[in-house]
Amino acid sequence: MTTVQTIIIGGSAAGLASAACLKKMGIEFIGLEKSSRVANSWRYHYDRLHLHTSKKWSALPFKAFDQTLPKYPSRQNVVDYLDDYSKELNISPVFNTEVLSVKKEGSGWITETSNGDYKSNFVIVATGLNNKSTVPEWKGMNSFRGLIIHSSWYKNGKSFAGQRVLVVGFGNSACEQAICLHENGAFPALSVRSTVNVLPRDLFGIPILQLGKFTSLFSPQVADKINAPIIKMAVGDISKLGLKKSAYGPREQIEKQKRIPLLDIGTIELIREGHIKVYGDIKRIEGNTVYFEDGKQQAFDAIICATGYQHNLGSFLSISDERMNDLGKESSKQSYFGADGLYFCGFYLSPKGMLHEIGTEASRNAKDIAKKAKY
Ligand SMILES: Cc1cc2nc3c(=O)[nH]c(=O)nc-3n(C[C@H](O)[C@H](O)[C@H](O)COP(=O)(O)OP(=O)(O)OC[C@H]3O[C@@H](n4cnc5c(N)ncnc54)[C@H](O)[C@@H]3O)c2cc1C
Repeated sequence: MTTVQTIIIGGSAAGLASAACLKKMGIEFIGLEKSSRVANSWRYHYDRLHLHTSKKWSALPFKAFDQTLPKYPSRQNVVDYLDDYSKELNISPVFNTEVLSVKKEGSGWITETSNGDYKSNFVIVATGLNNKSTVPEWKGMNSFRGLIIHSSWYKNGKSFAGQRVLVVGFGNSACEQAICLHENGAFPALSVRSTVNVLPRDLFGIPILQLGKFTSLFSPQVADKINAPIIKMAVGDISKLGLKKSAYGPREQIEKQKRIPLLDIGTIELIREGHIKVYGDIKRIEGNTVYFEDGKQQAFDAIICATGYQHNLGSFLSISDERMNDLGKESSKQSYFGADGLYFCGFYLSPKGMLHEIGTEASRNAKDIAKKAKY
């Protein structure tokens, strides 16, 4: 059994930011990462992906993105940034070490791993909100003769050229993968079940999340009301495109439905031009024909499920539903923040962007641990 003051579980953005902040505070820690390198998730994302949040807004504590990079760094830029981050700040988690359980023992914690056990006063869980992919089940799904994959398996559109591809979902991945398919000579369509909010990624050349900062002092409802006219002017009427506008504004949607609105990078224009078709929810599948709830039907060659992810906390940690719900709030408003020496980083879906929030949480956690560690 190894004894250490703090254990950090996860060696990607949140784990690295947590390590950097603890280091600055002089707190002893060991990071545990189940894969063999840092930033593992970003190495597998699709090729076309660029951050939807600006580099200024997405940098982790103590290191900016390189000045020469575009405003919205590419997937590879993010991998390189996180690689450099760990090297420059001298952070090296223990790799190939999966945490199997985290249990309270006395005033501290026992973390069991595939590679030995650890005893610590504090544990920071940084295993990500996007750990397991969610794939829905549709009636007749097994009769579909083409490829059905989750969006996390999508790399690029090359192998889909000439194919009719249905992308299920209307998140940022769904909408960018539809663009990518169109660029690669496929015929993409989106199946959109829910009501949506669409924001331009930039307005007047300024990232929309940065503009949103000015209204962040107001409640989500009030901020949405203030922003509504300008968003409508920028995006236009989406109801004419077969999309249903959410009754909530973007901020309220994040708060109430835990869904990030679309930060549009060209999907809406391609829908308007007829290059991306829009359908409703899937009712059933029969052979290669997909029947939609809105009464339409269409044959497809492939289906990409951009239907989201789940965290994997339940696989190694047992916390009450109340504490789990608490994680859906900003850490400064959580009732369980740091309770029992257990901290989380990267589980609050923030309207300011996840990477930005990860930096804030990592710093807040480290300050709290430093305060408690003194006594
Ligand atoms: C496609 C996509 C695009 C995104 N784009 C943006 C964006 O533009 N801007 C933005 O701000 N955010 C974005 N995000 C959201 C978020 O910033 C990223 O998901 C970010 O990588 C989260 O970092 P993380 O460290 O919390 O989680 P992850 O990157 O998922 O890392 C978690 C780490 O924990 C490890 N781990 C998990 N379980 C265990 C275990 N039991 N034991 C040991 N290790 C474990 C994993 O191997 C992994 O390395 C995006 C997310 C996705 C999926």
